[in-house]
Amino acid sequence: MFGNVTYRPFMRLALLVLLAAIAPAHAAEDRLPIFDTHVHYSKEAWIAYGPEAVFEKLDAAGVDWALVSSTPDDGTVALHRHDNRRVVPELRPYHADLHAGNWYRSPEIIPYLEERLKNGIYRGIGEFHLHTTENARTPTMRRVAALAVANDIPLHVHSGAGPVAALFEIEPKLKILWAHAGMVEPADVVADLLDQYENLTAEVSFRAHDIAPGGQLSPAWRDLFNRHANRFMIGTDTYINDRWDAYGSLVAEHRNWLEQLPPKTATAIAHGNAARVFGITAPSQ
Ligand SMILES: [Zn+2]
Repeated sequence: MFGNVTYRPFMRLALLVLLAAIAPAHAAEDRLPIFDTHVHYSKEAWIAYGPEAVFEKLDAAGVDWALVSSTPDDGTVALHRHDNRRVVPELRPYHADLHAGNWYRSPEIIPYLEERLKNGIYRGIGEFHLHTTENARTPTMRRVAALAVANDIPLHVHSGAGPVAALFEIEPKLKILWAHAGMVEPADVVADLLDQYENLTAEVSFRAHDIAPGGQLSPAWRDLFNRHANRFMIGTDTYINDRWDAYGSLVAEHRNWLEQLPPKTATAIAHGNAARVFGITAPSQ
């Protein structure tokens, strides 16, 4: 009976339906594309992971775009040269003897940033550290903030709430991407700052265990994400090679809590917000 030619289209359809039903629920194509907004490609990583190996890591984790910075900046430039569609470069001030502990008071930083910004590839300045509110108010930092406004690019700031507020006081038109959403700042402090400053966005690298202790999305962070769905982004922070080694699991930690949010909110945080801020056209938009 199945030899009868009229049954073949039906059989073929039935087979396709069957195959679709038994396909893995999380096939690679079904994964939410991720825009990782906290990638470092610093000197230590250059030998362990060449550009091909980096993109293999991103592909395996379903990361389509990366906001990249590095110490020194050459790593960022190399990765961007390798794929200028997926890599969004940020200019990190650290180089030579200038590091997290002294860069914000160094006058040499200004000509360094001005010179490198001339090549036109950078979409942000950072990620950099400001450990105290006072550090955000130095003459150098005032000029860095002015430079960001003049170039219409955000500062990517690793700090508590104090320096963020101080920078907005100095330059109300500034855009800030807040690294780690303040690292140790609780959800209500993050909420207050987002309420207060409309040009503030936050990425949640290093926060997966606060957001979802034991894997379960906390009510406070759920409320925060739903209230400010258009302000949050994903990040991994590959500041040491250990973090590159663990890259897949760092992204998986974020996917776990993203799946516990309404799909529209999850999509915005996974890539939509970063795509909007950094001018990338994402397929789902
Ligand atoms: Zn970092």
